[in-house]
Amino acid sequence: MGSRQEQDERTMKVVVVEQAGKVSVREVLRPVPIAQEVLVRLDHCLLCTWEQRMFAGTAKVNFPFVPGHEVAGSIVQIPEETITGFSVGEKVTVKTLDSCGHCEACYQGFDNLCTGTPRKRTYDGIPSSGGLAQYIALPVSRIFSLPDQDLDTRFAAFAEPLACCVHSIEQADIALGEDVVVVGAGIMGQFHVALSRARGARVIVVEPNKERAVLATKMGAMEIIDPFAEDATQRILKLTNGRGAHVVFTTITQTTLAELYIKALAKRGRIIYYGSFHPDGDIAVSPNMIHYSERVITGSYSPTTKAFYTAIRLISYGIIDVRPFLSAEYPLAMAQEAFRKAQDPQTYRVSINLCET
Ligand SMILES: [Zn+2]
Ligand SMILES: [Zn+2]
Repeated sequence: MGSRQEQDERTMKVVVVEQAGKVSVREVLRPVPIAQEVLVRLDHCLLCTWEQRMFAGTAKVNFPFVPGHEVAGSIVQIPEETITGFSVGEKVTVKTLDSCGHCEACYQGFDNLCTGTPRKRTYDGIPSSGGLAQYIALPVSRIFSLPDQDLDTRFAAFAEPLACCVHSIEQADIALGEDVVVVGAGIMGQFHVALSRARGARVIVVEPNKERAVLATKMGAMEIIDPFAEDATQRILKLTNGRGAHVVFTTITQTTLAELYIKALAKRGRIIYYGSFHPDGDIAVSPNMIHYSERVITGSYSPTTKAFYTAIRLISYGIIDVRPFLSAEYPLAMAQEAFRKAQDPQTYRVSINLCET
């Protein structure tokens, strides 16, 4: 009886990166939620830099792999053993990245730096980060209900990238009226601009691309520096009457710039290396310069649960407008084209619609 339908209910489609430059859609067994988990039907998944690197063959990952981690959808099943206030049908975003919940980092609220053993996810034996799949089973502690249940889930999927930036902003502890420099105005730079403005800072953006500079101004940048047209650190010193910036966020990958922008900091200024550097390398820092000036050099890696919770509020309440960053959307069947499009440096985020096959 109805074996076709029975099979449909047991399976789902996932996007598999088979090898560098090659993506396919496969049918695998649908995950079954266990106690304290719920099953979420995912509507949209955005392609982040990590997925782009995987497709380009420069990410450290063994193929085949089911990537994806910037997602939103709705709860479709809550097992009886799961005790939760969530309801079936509730629109949610989810934190696919696992953390153990009981190491020192997790207990202190820095689950982004978890030192425990994350649970490995596989679909029919294919390792996965869980996002480019039509369904995902997750513990209730990693489910975030949308405060605005009318919010389009394609925009709720921006909670993860925004959460990364929320954590970065918290690292900088921006005070009202401070001078904040954002180096690079890709999507992450743009989010840093909007969040810094929301925190009451004067925002200075370093970006050579004209279109990005225009959008940065819309997001709240008050000064734009073209680093190809002028000496960026000199201009920052000039804009701050020789004091330097209170905060610098780097969202670029060149190690030389990691060193350069320390020079643009005020005393007690904080530099946050938001993005990772490729290739990695050493930089020269004078310990006495740090001693005498109390400058702080730190980084920001991945979002905490707290940042996730904050990010979905910022989107739901319209405090941060993520709509300009959805550059293109493709149905599941066109996943290969979606990955190719995401390689285009002109795009901010490309989305795969997991409902449309
Ligand atoms: Zn991401
Ligand atoms: Zn942990």
